[in-house]
Amino acid sequence: MADIIQLLPDHVANQIAAGEVVQRPASVVKELLENAIDAKADTITLVVKDAGKTLVQVIDNGIGMSNTDARLSFERHATSKIRVAEDLFHLNTKGFRGEALASIAAIAHVELITRREMDELGTQIKIEGSKVISQEVITAPFGTSIAVKNLFYNIPARRNFLKSDAVELRHVIDEFHRVALAHPDIAFTLYHNNGELFNLPASNLRQRVVNVFGGKTNEKLVPVNEETEIAGITGFVGKPSFARKSRGEQFFFVNDRFVKSSYLHHAITAAFEGLLPQKCHPTYFLYFNIDPEKIDINIHPTKTEIKFEDEHSLYAILRSAVKHSLGQFNVAPVLDFQH
Ligand code: ADP
Ligand code: MG
Repeated sequence: MADIIQLLPDHVANQIAAGEVVQRPASVVKELLENAIDAKADTITLVVKDAGKTLVQVIDNGIGMSNTDARLSFERHATSKIRVAEDLFHLNTKGFRGEALASIAAIAHVELITRREMDELGTQIKIEGSKVISQEVITAPFGTSIAVKNLFYNIPARRNFLKSDAVELRHVIDEFHRVALAHPDIAFTLYHNNGELFNLPASNLRQRVVNVFGGKTNEKLVPVNEETEIAGITGFVGKPSFARKSRGEQFFFVNDRFVKSSYLHHAITAAFEGLLPQKCHPTYFLYFNIDPEKIDINIHPTKTEIKFEDEHSLYAILRSAVKHSLGQFNVAPVLDFQH
């Protein structure tokens, strides 16, 4: 009998990997924004058409790429961010898997324009379904622009699976908020179908929260600041009057990365015990600073779930820090308006 195992061609492997990294336009938004941040941009523009189904474009003024790097950036496992596995525990970048651009280019029409400040000319590359259509030397501003068009054009099943524009745009905006709140020192703009949705100048965290959620937010923010041996926490919780029935503005970051953790969410809720009307959820923008050696972020392709070495201590620290702030600022319970 003949042997039957074959190595998958790259474009097939990329398409399979894309299934993990790219669920919807918002996933592309996340990956491109994170790349712009890793490139040390201080001004980032996001342009979206039809909730990202037709276009997601990110323009940055970061370090750009050389001609060769521009081409390599679309290869699988091609990254400038780590060299050896050990680097995973000293990361100061969002990316490290070298998978995003390869995955995205497998399932969309991609156009990259990039130039390093030191180079006179830049590079333009067009890729469709992992195939390079053209690579040219062009004049370009320094920094990088990546336009991702017609997401899932070659996977009708995935395209049909996308939700309405309203729902997909909500996801895009959520992702934009998460990144913008993790980096108040970077200026962000978001355009949708040629209209400007957000224009966030570089500022501090309080000002960023206010710019994102509106002027009335300011008076409702209670600062949280606690430094322990295991972790530092900074940020704000909303006064109980700011609480929502729906699970709305809840942002938890670890080393500037938006993270989901129902366990640590519970620690915050526990700190609000007795202060909130029934079925209401606290608002929070909390930032954990932890020794990168004490967390593992490589357990999920999109990195929104991470593993903590000592989750129980973090729970206790978080709960007591929030409680302390609520006490210190004399936050009184809100009467239960349900009954
Ligand atoms: P990762 O971010 O995990 O390294 P990506 O596929 O997202 O993988 O990107 C591959 C590489 O392309 C990055 O390591 C980086 O060197 C380069 N790159 C991607 N986007 C940009 C950008 N906006 N500016 C400069 N370099 C970029
Ligand atoms: Mg990346």
